[in-house]
Amino acid sequence: MRPEAGQTERELAGAVRDWASRALPGPRIAASESEGALPADVIHDLGELGVLGMGVPESDGGLGASTVVFALVLEELGAAWPSLAIGVSVNSGIVAGSIVRHGTPAQRARWLPRLMDGSGLGAFALTEASSGSDAASLRATARRDGDGWVLNGRKHFITNAKYAPLAITFARVGAAEEGVATRPGAPPTAHAGITAFIVPTDAPGVSLGPSDHKMGLLASDTSALVLEDARVGSDAVLGEVGRGFGIALAGLDGGRIGVAAQSIGIARAAIERAVRYARERRQFGKTLVEFEAIRFSLARARTEVDAARMLALRAAWLRDRGCPFTREASMAKLFASEAAQRATYQALQVFGGYGYMREYEVERYARDARVTTLYEGTSEVQRMVIARSLVAA
Ligand SMILES: Cc1cc2nc3c(=O)[nH]c(=O)nc-3n(C[C@H](O)[C@H](O)[C@H](O)COP(=O)(O)OP(=O)(O)OC[C@H]3O[C@@H](n4cnc5c(N)ncnc54)[C@H](O)[C@@H]3O)c2cc1C
Repeated sequence: MRPEAGQTERELAGAVRDWASRALPGPRIAASESEGALPADVIHDLGELGVLGMGVPESDGGLGASTVVFALVLEELGAAWPSLAIGVSVNSGIVAGSIVRHGTPAQRARWLPRLMDGSGLGAFALTEASSGSDAASLRATARRDGDGWVLNGRKHFITNAKYAPLAITFARVGAAEEGVATRPGAPPTAHAGITAFIVPTDAPGVSLGPSDHKMGLLASDTSALVLEDARVGSDAVLGEVGRGFGIALAGLDGGRIGVAAQSIGIARAAIERAVRYARERRQFGKTLVEFEAIRFSLARARTEVDAARMLALRAAWLRDRGCPFTREASMAKLFASEAAQRATYQALQVFGGYGYMREYEVERYARDARVTTLYEGTSEVQRMVIARSLVAA
């Protein structure tokens, strides 16, 4: 196995790094974080660059790039602006990826262009107030009505909901509903009946709750998606009725590579800033980089970033080859997100009291890093996934 990226992959990631350094100066990011929204022209630019359709096959109008490239690009976006990285990861990794894998030709033709053209960012609506880690206990319902479906429920913490043309939304279809896929004689499972729907956000009965007030990722909008007798057509079902939980898990497997990449970018950017600062800041007649305690802390953090990248690229490499990668994606997400906590903590420490001040970006990276051990499966959930694969082996 060679999980390293090749020349072309590094060039693509380099192009995104160059774009980000031109298009996303610090004051622009700070202003958008204060406003609590990603600028429309930035999303539009990413559409023009092809980033939003990176993983979409060329036959569907995308770039057809590998997961390895996508991970490297998300690292660059994470280093530049974590709020943007998660928006792209959800849109292009989970949402577009699920439609590529499970969509009918008509669904692909209708929705993939909307996820790639830079007019918005798609959403993935799984979590509810009473079902987070235990996602299979979701309560949103779907029932057939004429030739369509009626959905009811409230999805919590939905990234991109405010910018989304569609949300892949998970709701439970009653066992008595015609067409629920069950094995005769098999006991009902916790995820029985869960079905994935492509819900247009302008469908009747769909609305958004107020934006959540978060600790970090301030420009990445997170809102509730409210379904009150929301009506969608029969063509809204993604995959098969009753088989939605598998679609959710497969989406999250890929998404975890994205969160790992975002975490690596955050950690890398925080360390780079700490190194720059430590070269200039003088105490006791020396620059900070002359103190071994500082040098060693930076060395440890940088080593962890490289280790995390290897884990993420291994998972991406396996996925690109059609090999199982669930465990490896969880390992990458677990290690990278926790390494990002240590790296941002240490970077802020190097800045001393200045690190606690808003004008130094390191505090933003520290706040943004915190959520990476929580969303798309907490660290505890990643350990459960990894342990399950060990025990089952
Ligand atoms: C900024 C942000 C964006 C998000 N975006 C989205 C999105 O776009 N779409 C979406 O569907 N969801 C989204 N989420 C939801 C996110 O995925 C959940 O918050 C996450 O899965 C955890 O669920 P929970 O918050 O309900 O915590 P809980 O499941 O209530 O967990 C609470 C604590 O208990 C621990 N725990 C739970 N079960 C176990 C166990 N069996 N063993 C040991 N420990 C356990 C957890 O690890 C955690 O530490 C987002 C969340 C945030 C914060």
